[in-house]
Amino acid sequence: MPDILFLEPLFKERIWGGQKLTQFGYQLPYQKTGECWAISAHPNGQSIIKNGRFKGLSLGQVFTENKQLFNDITSDRFPLLTKILDANDDLSVQVHPNDAYAQKVEHDLGKTECWVVLDAEEDAYIIYGHHATSKEMFKSMVNHDAWDQLLIKKKVQKGDFIYVPSGTIHALGKGLLILETQQSSDTTYRLFDYHRKDEKGQERELHIKKSIEVARIPHVDEKIDVKTQNIDESVITQYVNNAFFTVEKWSIKHQITQLNHHYKLMSVIEGQGTINEYPITKGDHFIICSNVDKIELNGQLEIIVSWV
Ligand code: ZN
Repeated sequence: MPDILFLEPLFKERIWGGQKLTQFGYQLPYQKTGECWAISAHPNGQSIIKNGRFKGLSLGQVFTENKQLFNDITSDRFPLLTKILDANDDLSVQVHPNDAYAQKVEHDLGKTECWVVLDAEEDAYIIYGHHATSKEMFKSMVNHDAWDQLLIKKKVQKGDFIYVPSGTIHALGKGLLILETQQSSDTTYRLFDYHRKDEKGQERELHIKKSIEVARIPHVDEKIDVKTQNIDESVITQYVNNAFFTVEKWSIKHQITQLNHHYKLMSVIEGQGTINEYPITKGDHFIICSNVDKIELNGQLEIIVSWV
């Protein structure tokens, strides 16, 4: 029997979070809800399956016991994590390690991630990269709190795609709502937190030494090659296709039928309609397993699709 696994989103409280995730129809458990973990088999937050023969089980368990539904991929852990983030305030400036470093030091995967900007306030920006040309220069600017000289700010707007390889210094700025596709990792090194203090007057922990160890210095803007394909009135935009993940946006006007031979993660970011026999709407997240031969989407829909 072909399997389409619908997933229960779970939420994380963050000091920079807000209430924007309510627009996806979610009941938010926190005033400052920062993250929706939409498709996850990470031990720090597992998606639970809502339907079918695996109802009530975690994605991690279903993956481990049914690799044939996921193209028999060899990784021990489900490789991807899909989140929606509501940056109601600036996130800390951070960097993630690559696989080799993360496995050695953290017993976690490395983290290459990418963002589709779902909404952006007027002057919203991200931090992406830095101006230091050597580790010494980088350290010196960090030690002198010379953040304005060190960090590169980029304006972003709704619809932008941003690829963030491990080692990239980055931060989401206030007023951004993004869908993130990332390696299934929860390892973040915080370089700078704007000297913000919590209610106890404490700054959050920083990881300056590790940040400098894993940061790409000098910064390189990695090229990505976005491809678009028109199918009838629908458009498939492929943002990235590499060893970490493939990420696409499917903009469906009325109807599209695609043969399927690979499992796919899907997140509905706009509209409503159906997939095969199932009704779907904005805020739904599901996995098409590799035993689904044909995908038929109906309706006016925008869906972020990923796999590895
Ligand atoms: Zn990050």
